[in-house]
Amino acid sequence: MKERLSLKIHGIVQGVGFRPFVHKLVRNYGLHGYIRNCSSGVEMELEGEREKLEELLRALPEKAPRLALIQDMEHSFSRELQGFESFEIMRSSREKLNNTLVSPDICICDDCLRELRDRSDRRYGYPFINCTNCGPRFTIIKDLPYDRAKTSMDVFPMCPDCEREYGDIENRRYHAQPDCCDKCGPRVFYLDGEGKELWGDGIQLARERLKNGGIVAVKGLGGMHLACLWDDEASVRKLRRRKQRDEKPFALMCRDVECAKKLCRVSAAEEKLLESYQRPIALLRKKEPGLEYLSENGYLGIMLPYTPLHYLLMGEDIDMLVMTSANLSDRPIMYKNGEALRELAGIADGFLLHNREIQTRCDDSLCWELEGKEYFVRRSRGYVPYPLVMKRELRDILACGAEQKASFCLSKGSYVFQSQHMGDLKNLETLENYRQQIEHFKKLFDIRPQAAACDMHPDYMSTAYAEELDIPLIRVQHHHAHMCSCMADNNLDGDIIALVWDGSGYGLDAAGWGGECLVGGFRDFSRFGHILPLAMPGGDRAVKETDRLAFSLLAASGLDASQIPGADSYGKMMEAGLNCPLSSGMGRLFDAAAAILGIKTRCSYEGQGAVLLEAAAAENERACYPYVMEGSPLVFDWREMVRAMVRDLNEGAGRDIIAARFINTLVDMAVETVKAAGRETGLDRVCLSGGSFQNMYIMGRLPQLLRAAGFKVYHHGRVSCNDEGLALGQLMIADAKLRG
Ligand code: ZN
Ligand code: ZN
Ligand code: FE
Repeated sequence: MKERLSLKIHGIVQGVGFRPFVHKLVRNYGLHGYIRNCSSGVEMELEGEREKLEELLRALPEKAPRLALIQDMEHSFSRELQGFESFEIMRSSREKLNNTLVSPDICICDDCLRELRDRSDRRYGYPFINCTNCGPRFTIIKDLPYDRAKTSMDVFPMCPDCEREYGDIENRRYHAQPDCCDKCGPRVFYLDGEGKELWGDGIQLARERLKNGGIVAVKGLGGMHLACLWDDEASVRKLRRRKQRDEKPFALMCRDVECAKKLCRVSAAEEKLLESYQRPIALLRKKEPGLEYLSENGYLGIMLPYTPLHYLLMGEDIDMLVMTSANLSDRPIMYKNGEALRELAGIADGFLLHNREIQTRCDDSLCWELEGKEYFVRRSRGYVPYPLVMKRELRDILACGAEQKASFCLSKGSYVFQSQHMGDLKNLETLENYRQQIEHFKKLFDIRPQAAACDMHPDYMSTAYAEELDIPLIRVQHHHAHMCSCMADNNLDGDIIALVWDGSGYGLDAAGWGGECLVGGFRDFSRFGHILPLAMPGGDRAVKETDRLAFSLLAASGLDASQIPGADSYGKMMEAGLNCPLSSGMGRLFDAAAAILGIKTRCSYEGQGAVLLEAAAAENERACYPYVMEGSPLVFDWREMVRAMVRDLNEGAGRDIIAARFINTLVDMAVETVKAAGRETGLDRVCLSGGSFQNMYIMGRLPQLLRAAGFKVYHHGRVSCNDEGLALGQLMIADAKLRG
């Protein structure tokens, strides 16, 4: 007997090849009716045998395309038939434009890559080849519903051939909004260093310039890169000089995994990460020390090509390229042709550009692989704007994040939309981009926040932004937010123990915190323990001039620090308590240790000392230094440790050994602190959050040791442990407070 099925599917089912997939299923089961996009996903009406309708219901979630995320299916059966005679895909319904999700940008798929390399294919060598399974999405979308007219492809009307594919349900390009070919789609062009367009094959010209040691600006999916040969040290140094890019590591693009294996150790899980459709920059351990001109630490950031243009650029003979985001002086990544030509004059020797506009900036994502998941430094291209799905419904809230590694979160229902990488909010351009993206997300996902959350720091630009909004504002302590970010990341509820280690955050007592053991949940927390604060002579200057911190640490430990340049004035500042704020930030302790060991005394970016200390640490050293823990809150007193370090140093122990012993001491202290918290509270779940946990030496040891001590250990996996992940915690705390 025939029945009618009304079905609504919520989730990410638009622009991911879902409707053609349904079409095929429906035909196999001999059903009639229609499907159309609606605001929360797709809706369909189908008529046929009840048994077949039920089969369809089962098959949908099982066989859905890989990009589709079926959140929820609502259905009902009825006996009132409309008498459909065919199956139709109806035009987008525009009644309610809410709660539609947007797919991230997806790397080129195998089918498209095959066509790209097939001389007989009509898209052979065409750099904008894509299909329903791959291509640009988030970075070209202006508005919803997702239709070509609302993307930057709107200025490229399809040729008859593309139109035919687009309309053919049997075709891989059925309803692929960015579908195009060299007759109708965007084109690339190459300009020389003076900005003059050169006649010829743009990609070949760019390749030649690269092979001649040139620096070429390449327009990618979410912004511009600067590229040069990886093994030409002179070119790389030239790039550093021109970009005034201090000492931060450069990422590499490798043609394939085999190339990556020439430089790095690549595990099976890391291989999977490299080849995932998100194509993040994976931080891989160097096979052997060296290549300092690319990365001064033990890791290389490596990604595989993710657009057809990248594959063509590398061709058969370029194995690896340096690929670094084109941005100057901490401003956002460049994404417009005009601005690149203007701002990169004198930096790039050539420009490989194209005429498809990037609508939204999106930097490359950056992560390690940890216990089978991404461990993000930066969650951006390939991941954003997929929502983080929470366990319960949330109020509509805007969480404004921190200041460095800024990001924001907007919630709707059980979804949290986290922004792409924004950089540090310390100049007008970044702030403007931050404001724009908040508006863009609000419009795209139709969210009108009822409340906002921000950091307690009075000087954060994100706090100032939040204060301007005309909605209730909830101020959240920095490390409480880190802790709750990790809880939400792992879908935890209730009370937990958290180790929150970072550079610095505004404490409840207005001092800088950051070596914290907190106990609590979304509603409340208490400070169970922290590290002994150290004085920062000169305040924020000590973040980069870390010999100031070395002085502070040595002086506090009763050791001679007179050999440090500027010792006299630091001593006076500390004695008088003048411009010497106290910080219990773990990052500062790391920086101080790196400076004492002579590894780094002047940092060009925050946390550099800590990164280099980790790189220096001997892998097999197990010993740790003595230390004292006492009081309530439980204070880790590092003075005994510092004296032992200096003793080692004077006795000629290797820096690698001392660095390892130093970190081992902190790991040991962490375990003891958690044990003490566990004894006092009876809690057995531990969250690890804060930027200092981007130390893989610690992450390779601490979770195991805590588990061995009987604790359940949770670290980040969906958002970053650094301040980029903070907004999620702010949001969850605000939601808990609003519910009362
Ligand atoms: Zn494809
Ligand atoms: Zn075409
Ligand atoms: Fe932080």
